[in-house]
Amino acid sequence: MIKKLLIANRGEIALRIVRACKQLGIQTVGVYSTADDNLMHLRFVDESICIGKPNASQSYLNIDTILTAAEISGADAIHPGYGFLSENAEFAERVEEAGLTFVGPAPEHIRLMGNKISAINAMKKAGVPTVPGSVGSVTLANAEEQAKAIGFPLLIKAAAGGGGRGMRVVERLEQLLSQVQAAKQEAELWFGDDSVYMERFLKNPRHVEVQVLGDGEGNAIHLFDRDCSLQRRHQKVLEEAPAPEIPDDIKEPILQACVRACEQINYRGAGTFEFLYEDEQFFFIEMNTRVQVEHPVTEMITGIDVVVEQLKIASGYGLSYRQNEIEIRGHAIECRINAEDPVTFLPSPGTVTHFFMPNGNGVRFDSHLYPNYAIPTFYDSLIGKLICHGQTREQAIAKLRHALDELIITGIKTNVPLHRDVILQDEAFCKQAQNIHYLEKNLLSQPETPKTETE
Ligand code: ADP
Repeated sequence: MIKKLLIANRGEIALRIVRACKQLGIQTVGVYSTADDNLMHLRFVDESICIGKPNASQSYLNIDTILTAAEISGADAIHPGYGFLSENAEFAERVEEAGLTFVGPAPEHIRLMGNKISAINAMKKAGVPTVPGSVGSVTLANAEEQAKAIGFPLLIKAAAGGGGRGMRVVERLEQLLSQVQAAKQEAELWFGDDSVYMERFLKNPRHVEVQVLGDGEGNAIHLFDRDCSLQRRHQKVLEEAPAPEIPDDIKEPILQACVRACEQINYRGAGTFEFLYEDEQFFFIEMNTRVQVEHPVTEMITGIDVVVEQLKIASGYGLSYRQNEIEIRGHAIECRINAEDPVTFLPSPGTVTHFFMPNGNGVRFDSHLYPNYAIPTFYDSLIGKLICHGQTREQAIAKLRHALDELIITGIKTNVPLHRDVILQDEAFCKQAQNIHYLEKNLLSQPETPKTETE
């Protein structure tokens, strides 16, 4: 078993990883930037090391410093969490070269899936259905020909893209070349790689994803699926598991295909296959080779601790469960709680004055908040995740409504009102799952022009 783990992350996920380590008797090393010495998880780790300035490029993204911290502390493994270096193949490689265990997949698989064009090709090969789209990367020279084969509207996407950035909808052929050019420039700027590809722009799909675990030796299991369709600017706002109202005979082959795809490449660790689901068809869009923000909804319905499993797999213990031992119990929904203005969505960092954490049977709040915690301005606005589990979707919703009433966070603005007063009061959403455009089109008071059309 890993003896001492360095957590190369911050915030709620760092605390989440500490909890899993405590359960397994693994010692922990926390790292933090100079803006982050007040992080909750630093009170529980065995050691902590400052790794640099507030700007992430000078701390949480600095590979050399993180490796030095691991060396100084004598850590034998690194967990990257999500975001930051979690999907950086070079980091995983450097960790392994330093003789340490990287809690995640092999660098070659991070690289394969990190480029969405190679990911899509790999999935096609494994028999996973993908969105009808371009073949290979799109250039100014081949864009027209490729676009005609796909049809309009289509979506230009950055091969190295992430975080919902770098996507552009093209409605007509006349807009194509200027949009391809702009998308390439944007991709270069944001991701340091100008390759782009195109997909049919699906009209009203849902976002449905499959959680997998692989042992790196050709065995894999799935932990069923999640629906993450409530999004703003292609960023998830609320997630649930299992994905509602999908017939078993349509879902099951996709779950199996994901497992097969992992087994074929000897995938190691946790991963998520993301799909769009429309007209009873699944279309693969990308794979995330790390633990995801929304993993707790899967934990609540399966009883399996995804981070504990990541640590066990990385320690060489293989998979703790066989597929036929995993069952869905009930329904779970997660609200992402962000420090942001609920109307303008602008970040709202500051000091938390009062804080009360909701509780009760089937209520979970993954968060690093505490009274008087000063949220720094430098990082993501996610400050917590409220997850409720019920025997049915209806019960999970009822619990969430009450838990959101109980939740008190003052001193900063949060998106709690959006969850409490808008989404969980919406009759259509509470009755059934909605598509990826629903939140922006129907529930946001001042729907903004979707990012894809303006940038
Ligand atoms: P990122 O890695 O930036 O999150 P994804 O490829 O995962 O990008 O897509 C993010 C979201 O963008 C999806 O959940 C969906 O809402 C939307 N999206 C992506 N591809 C398509 C498509 N072909 N048609 C319609 N919407 C799409």
